[in-house]
Amino acid sequence: MPASNTNDGLRVAIIGAGPAAFYAADHLLKSNEGVTVDMFDRLPTPYGLVRAGVAPDHQKIKSVTKAFALTGNDARFRFFGNVEFGRDVTLEDIGEHYHQVLFATGAQSDRKMGIPGEDLCGSHPATEFVAWYNGHPDFRDSHFDLSQETVVIVGVGNVAVDVARILCLSRAELEATDMPTYAVEALSNSQVTSVYLVGRRGPAQAAFTTPELKELDEMEEADLMILPAEAELDPLSVEDMAKSTDRLLVRKVEMIQAAAAKPATDKPKKLYLRFFVGPTEINGDQHGQVRSVTLAHNVLQRTETGTLVTKATGTTETIEAGLVFRSVGYRGVPLPGVPFNERQGVILNAAGRVLDPKTEQPLPGVYTSGWIKRGPSGVIGTNKPDSVETANNMLEDAAAERTFTPSKLEMGAIPALLASRGVRSVSFDEWQRLDALELAGGAAKGRPRAKFTSIGEMLAALDGDATPLP
Ligand code: NAP
Repeated sequence: MPASNTNDGLRVAIIGAGPAAFYAADHLLKSNEGVTVDMFDRLPTPYGLVRAGVAPDHQKIKSVTKAFALTGNDARFRFFGNVEFGRDVTLEDIGEHYHQVLFATGAQSDRKMGIPGEDLCGSHPATEFVAWYNGHPDFRDSHFDLSQETVVIVGVGNVAVDVARILCLSRAELEATDMPTYAVEALSNSQVTSVYLVGRRGPAQAAFTTPELKELDEMEEADLMILPAEAELDPLSVEDMAKSTDRLLVRKVEMIQAAAAKPATDKPKKLYLRFFVGPTEINGDQHGQVRSVTLAHNVLQRTETGTLVTKATGTTETIEAGLVFRSVGYRGVPLPGVPFNERQGVILNAAGRVLDPKTEQPLPGVYTSGWIKRGPSGVIGTNKPDSVETANNMLEDAAAERTFTPSKLEMGAIPALLASRGVRSVSFDEWQRLDALELAGGAAKGRPRAKFTSIGEMLAALDGDATPLP
């Protein structure tokens, strides 16, 4: 344990307040009674993608925040919301005030497909649409042309499936969510009747999971449509499946084939799940507006490493569509002064220890966990072992005194620094006041929650004389 001037414990700063951040904080606090944790987030609200990424019709998944709130209320934990790393506090400040810092900032951007027309008007990253319908303050003013009848979603991961499902929900289903009113109104009035989910490989390579597929097959207002020919496995996938012990994968392929065999009903919307088709171009009109997507038909071939990749057959087709969502994965964003692996889009690290790019040796005091450590994969719970691995390495290094050498360890030093810079930080108690107002606002409307979607509204609710419900 490092020696210090006014505390005899380890002082840790965590940047980001999503699941990876809370799992790490919880493990650090439970592992050692001398540890104190300060968590910083750019937004006044904690919980990262649980609040702004998890689909609003998956309220049960969001209940994981109850466990995070226990950590939030620990006497050795402080939350500093509305504080941006790199702008309001720097790595230099952190080194003066803490023994260690953990970056758990997630993957805030989207991957590119690298095809012509990707940036046309009407072609959006799915991540932006997800943030919009979840009321993220940065995206509440985004615009998506829902007067279009046909939408193409590229990719067949769980995010693509979330987006497809949200586009097909009825007004009653939308109102049962915690989606902001602007999104409920826009989606209820949408003209979208055909949604294409486009997978470049086959059913055996689909990235979505079976519960998500089941939901697509049970929608109130949309039929799931799969072409029987595209539900059939290609010979190489048949070979792999015969050797596979992955029962969930077998189940997923069976479900796809069963859905393909079902006749359509007269539901007003159609959700087409396509396989073996990859976009080669998004086509626009003279105004730069998306009009269609060109898809190449693919077969699969095996690489030297055994992976099945696509090979175009030469046949193409075009889907007329005015709106495209690119759902081909998230991507991490570099942080000021923190080594970054550009190729992988993650912080340069080994088991959560951030590495000096020149020596490839750990930088004392600097750590990472979650998507910005390993890339954007896995469900919320996947972050727990990931963060525990990093937290254990932090404790081991602290015991060996491989830390920053902070000189300003008084508990009041960081609040004083923020105040001197005119930063209005939001504490965990204050977040809980916002949370209570959101729940009360939701209850008044017969909905699970009414979210604040602007930072200004949140601060006004905390600082104003009257506290209007959101
Ligand atoms: P993902 O699971 O990695 O899926 C990405 C999809 O994009 C894949 O189908 C991939 O196909 C496709 N793709 C990539 N590059 C492409 C290209 N150039 N052209 C066409 N298609 C391309 O990513 P995600 O959907 O963003 O999800 C991220 C993580 O969050 C996943 O682990 C997911 O399970 C998780 N998540 C979970 C839930 C839930 O539990 N309900 C909800 C949302 C997200 P290939 O396989 O061919 O590369």
